[in-house]
Amino acid sequence: MRDLLEMIPGGVPAVVGLVVAGLLLTTLPLHPQMWLYPLVRQAVELKIRYQTSDMLAKETPHFIIKYTEQDADMVDMVATAAEAAYKPVTTVLDYTPRGKAIVLIYPDRQAMKKAYGWAGDASAMGFYWGGVIQILSPKAWMKNSQAVEEFITTGPLAHEYTHLVLDHMARGNYTRWFTEGLAQYMEYKANGYEWITVDNRLTGKLYTMAELEGDFDGLPNQALAYRQSLAAVRYIAEVHGEAKLNEILRSVTAGQKVNKAIKRALGMDYTTFETMVNLWAKGHMKQYSKTAN
Ligand SMILES: [Zn+2]
Repeated sequence: MRDLLEMIPGGVPAVVGLVVAGLLLTTLPLHPQMWLYPLVRQAVELKIRYQTSDMLAKETPHFIIKYTEQDADMVDMVATAAEAAYKPVTTVLDYTPRGKAIVLIYPDRQAMKKAYGWAGDASAMGFYWGGVIQILSPKAWMKNSQAVEEFITTGPLAHEYTHLVLDHMARGNYTRWFTEGLAQYMEYKANGYEWITVDNRLTGKLYTMAELEGDFDGLPNQALAYRQSLAAVRYIAEVHGEAKLNEILRSVTAGQKVNKAIKRALGMDYTTFETMVNLWAKGHMKQYSKTAN
C-alpha cells in the first residue's frame, strides 16, 4: 500500500481528497480497503496516463494502446490480440470493466524494467500494474514479430487482461495465487497455452496452500507456484464447473476472502481442497517430459 501511495500525484493530500470523495460517493457496506482501492488505482492510472501523454495512441473498441514510434508496426498486432482477449475473459469472469483498458508497449526490456522501479522477472513479457497492462514490444522476444496468431496465443494479452478485469471486479480483495491461477486459466482456455517447464512438474514435492497464500512472490520456485495456481483454478472450473468459479468470483467481489469463498462454493474444507487439487493435477495436467517438449 505504501508503494501505491507514493505513486499518486499530489501524494498524501490527494489521497485525503480521494478518501473524502470516496466517503461522499459510496454508501456500500464493503471493507474500507475495497472502496478505497479503486480510487487509489484510478489515481495511479491517471498518473500513468499523464506520464505517457506524449506517446502515440491507438484506440480500439475496448482498449487504448500506447506506443512509441519504434513500435508503430507492432500496434495493429497488439490491438488484435487485446480485442481477441476481450470476449473470452469478460465472458468467463462474467464482468465487463468500465471504460477502455490502457495497454502500454515498452520498446525494450530496459525501458520496461526502468518504469516505476519495477524489479520483476526479467524474462516476463508483461505485467499488470496500477490499472494498466504493461507489455514488452513483441520485437523484443518474438522470432517473427509479425506472426499475429503466435502473438495472440503465446503473448501476454489474455493473461494481463484477466488480471485487470479481476482487479476491477474484486477491488484488491484477492490473493496473488488466485489472480495468477485465473490469468493462466484464461490463457489455457482461450489459447491452449500452458507454462510447462522441467521445474514445475506436479508429481514431486509441492507447495502447500498456506505457502501459496503467504509470500507468493518470494517462493523460490516461481514456475511451480504458478503451475499449482493454475491447477487449483482448473480443478475448480473443470471438476466442479465454471458456475462454481463464477460463484467464487461473486463472493470475492462481495468482500469474502478467496479461501472462504472456495470453501463455501465447493462445500469442502481447505485441507480437502488442497488434497483434491494435488491429486487431480497429478492425473490430469500435462507434465514436462523431454520427448514432448
Ligand atoms: Zn500474472
